Amino acid sequence: MQYLVKDFGRLCGDMATTRTPPSDVSAEYIAQDIAAAIVAHRLPPGTRLREEALARAYDVSRTKIRAALLMLSKDKLIRTVPEKGAFVSKPSAAEAREIFAVRRILETALAREFVARATPADYKRIERHLQQERRAVKADDVQLRNGLLADFHILLADTVGNSVLTEMLRELSARSAIITVLYQSSLDAACSSDEHHAFLKAAKAGDVELACRLMVEHLEHVEHALNFTDELPAESNLITALLT
Ligand SMILES: [Zn+2]
Repeated sequence: MQYLVKDFGRLCGDMATTRTPPSDVSAEYIAQDIAAAIVAHRLPPGTRLREEALARAYDVSRTKIRAALLMLSKDKLIRTVPEKGAFVSKPSAAEAREIFAVRRILETALAREFVARATPADYKRIERHLQQERRAVKADDVQLRNGLLADFHILLADTVGNSVLTEMLRELSARSAIITVLYQSSLDAACSSDEHHAFLKAAKAGDVELACRLMVEHLEHVEHALNFTDELPAESNLITALLT
């Protein structure tokens, strides 16, 4: 399945601010509401999502809940375990290490190509993107900022024009976005945006070696800043988490 970071942002709309679900809610509404609760860390990684409890909380059938959970599992925000049920995704530190190791290899090559090919119009487009990133970081909008931070890397790949590379980075960025949304602090997100800016400055100056080094260091910083131990208690009250 093609997974788009932008879709992740859309899925994580701000619907969790609604305290009382409207009557006869759709499966999509429920998926968005649960996604927003995951992003806001009200449903920590590993939390079990019980169908009966969700059906009661939203006053809908279990069929509708299953449809919502299917949407969330397609976007990798939750995982379903046969005969055990659905759980909020809990990517491991080992998985994060593997993803970032591959990204460092691919994106060093990408940085080199980008410096060779980017035009003044490309720089303008990416600078506009950086402004959006900064606004989202400043507003502490977790969903939007994570989507934009991930999209920066895809924009670089788009500029190079290798569709295979772009597709690979889309998937890796989507998996990274889930990891950062779960384990990255607001301060580290701000650092990421600053590092994107530094990379672009080096690239624009034509300093390919510096641009490559900054890209590798940036990905190392993002990986090392992830906090896999700072989790809320696993037995959080699901209904309270969703509806308060
Ligand atoms: Zn980045």
